[in-house]
Amino acid sequence: MKKKKMTCITCPIGCLLEVDYELTKKEIISLKSNQCKKGYKFAQDELFDPKRILTTTVKINSRFFKRLPVRSNIPAPKGMIERMVKEIKKIQINLPVKMGDVLAINFMDTGVNIISSATIEQQ
Ligand code: SF4
Repeated sequence: MKKKKMTCITCPIGCLLEVDYELTKKEIISLKSNQCKKGYKFAQDELFDPKRILTTTVKINSRFFKRLPVRSNIPAPKGMIERMVKEIKKIQINLPVKMGDVLAINFMDTGVNIISSATIEQQ
């Protein structure tokens, strides 16, 4: 059995959770200091299936603009993020682009789309 302290970031209260868990069984044995049930879901996801919003940049084919900020539309598997960023760096886009434009669908079979974080009209 392992023990871990983690801050739940689901709401601004930020409970400091104390979790006892079995990694091999992906099971929470006990959870303390959570003020609501969402703390359990947060601890479960964070321990056994951690995800993060991915942010990076891609190359713009333009004389005036070099890089476009992009992000994942939903949190991506944390263990995949480094490899995803390397692959995203290979993407090149042409202007114009609008915030929210989808640049890649189901990127690397993660179920995550890569979208533009900015609007750039000028060529
Ligand atoms: S456990 Fe509940 S009250 Fe505490 S930070 Fe998480 S969501 Fe908020």
